[in-house]
Amino acid sequence: MLKDRILFDISLKELNSWRVGGKAKNFYICSDKRMLSQNLKDKNFKLPILFIGLGSNTLFRDGGFKGTIIAMHKGLNDISTDDNSFYAEAGVSCSKLAKYVAKLGYKNSAFLAGIPGTLGGALSMNAGCYGFETWDFVEKVLTIDQSGVEHIRKRQDFAISYRHVENKKNNTEFFIAAWLKFDKGNKDDAELAIKVLLEKRKEAQPLNWPTAGSTFRNPEGYFAAKLIEECGLKGFQVGGAQVSEKHANFIINKGNATAADIENLILQIQKEVFKQKKIKLVTEIRIIGEQLDS
Ligand SMILES: Cc1cc2nc3c(=O)[nH]c(=O)nc-3n(C[C@H](O)[C@H](O)[C@H](O)COP(=O)(O)OP(=O)(O)OC[C@H]3O[C@@H](n4cnc5c(N)ncnc54)[C@H](O)[C@@H]3O)c2cc1C
Repeated sequence: MLKDRILFDISLKELNSWRVGGKAKNFYICSDKRMLSQNLKDKNFKLPILFIGLGSNTLFRDGGFKGTIIAMHKGLNDISTDDNSFYAEAGVSCSKLAKYVAKLGYKNSAFLAGIPGTLGGALSMNAGCYGFETWDFVEKVLTIDQSGVEHIRKRQDFAISYRHVENKKNNTEFFIAAWLKFDKGNKDDAELAIKVLLEKRKEAQPLNWPTAGSTFRNPEGYFAAKLIEECGLKGFQVGGAQVSEKHANFIINKGNATAADIENLILQIQKEVFKQKKIKLVTEIRIIGEQLDS
């Protein structure tokens, strides 16, 4: 696809890990910060604007998105280091960042290796696993606002919690890049940690199906997967969407699921878990766009 040009009516199916969804009215792959800024300044993007990475935490509805999707992956992919400070642009995949850090002999990047998204998505979600979260390592970030102005924001400018990141001043800004710090370790140990983590995930997760990872956040004191399993929902299906038999917090696309199938399944799970456990499951995945009939 052409970079830094606005494209029209682009199917979102290939742009998310569930492989569902309608079309984006406008679509833009950003590979040049200055051009992005100029386009924002000139108000060339149809509103609303949504930045995406690899779509591995996003459910695009079947009716598509009426504004502009700005994709960072395949565009802003620079990565560099100055001693233990690492600069990476928002389009760098988490797995590439993890390997880059480990190869240079710094530790604790392994958790990023199993997250199939971009750094931009990980910053927005505070993605994490096995006791580590993205923002544990962030020193500062480069953002851009809707009028095309760039800002350097410190970690302290954000309220950060479990899978949640909020600009304290409520500014609408998007992530362009980040500076992260990792402690010095040993290259072999760091690379082995990545290998072990990836094997562990292969065992526990249905990675051969289209999915968006954990559908629901873990309610305090509980594991969403355990609650769903205890409610007898493993294997439960709506259309082509199914609660994975391997990991009950994962919804898989069996091949012909629509976004509506997935969303209906989400609602049914929430209803059943509330009925049986009196616990409200909240989605971790983000639902974007229009229903087909709206
Ligand atoms: C098999 C599998 C395993 C997973 N395991 C984990 C896990 O262990 N831990 C975990 O936390 N997640 C996990 N996920 C979910 C997902 O990979 C992460 O949330 C990831 O960080 C999303 O990155 P992305 O680039 O795909 O984001 P997208 O899905 O593209 O976007 C997610 C959100 O971030 C916003 N966003 C994206 N880029 C930017 C940007 N540059 N600026 C501002 N906002 C932006 C989007 O608008 C959207 O709201 C898993 C997913 C899958 C499919």
